[in-house]
Amino acid sequence: MEIKIGKSRLLLKQGDITQEEVDAIVNAANSSLLGGGGVDGAIHRAGGSEILEQCKKLGGCAPGDAKITTGGKLKAKHVIHTVGPIWRGGGEDEPRILASAYRRSLEVASENHCSSVSFPSISTGAYGYPVTEAAQIALRTIIAFLRKHQELKEARMVLFSPEDFSTYARELRPMTVPDM
Ligand code: ADP
Repeated sequence: MEIKIGKSRLLLKQGDITQEEVDAIVNAANSSLLGGGGVDGAIHRAGGSEILEQCKKLGGCAPGDAKITTGGKLKAKHVIHTVGPIWRGGGEDEPRILASAYRRSLEVASENHCSSVSFPSISTGAYGYPVTEAAQIALRTIIAFLRKHQELKEARMVLFSPEDFSTYARELRPMTVPDM
């Protein structure tokens, strides 16, 4: 599924983010940036030790912030490491931190002249964020950014499971308004 935002595109697909051929893929990391499970483990396995060597020099990353490294052996040139919120029921600023993780990742992508970026579903694995609510925040934040930053040509959400793909597609549909 794909929508146009001015001259830019937002694409939803099901797949493995480590296989993406884009300027940057985003990693849902933890604050240490020293590796973890889920998508983080998959990215480090596929990208090789060069990514971890660069991560060690970054001094960690606060929730809602993002930092960039090489893509190592990946097809993607860069990995942008961001840290989403751990879901604690919704009253601990989780929505703001999740939106910030997407926005900061996009800012770092733009600053580094990336014109295509792929995201996983940040915080909805081990961090327990409900997928429907996370999808709304992810999609709204990406759309708002693309409206203002047409230098970013394509943003993709790469959903690992068919269920997550369906949820994101269902949430994107009502956000799609015909051109006026
Ligand atoms: P978090 O700790 O931010 O919740 P996780 O890695 O546990 O991060 O999960 C985030 C999402 O990434 C989950 O939806 C999970 O299914 C997904 N995921 C895991 N491996 C991959 C992969 N190779 N490509 C894309 N998404 C993945």
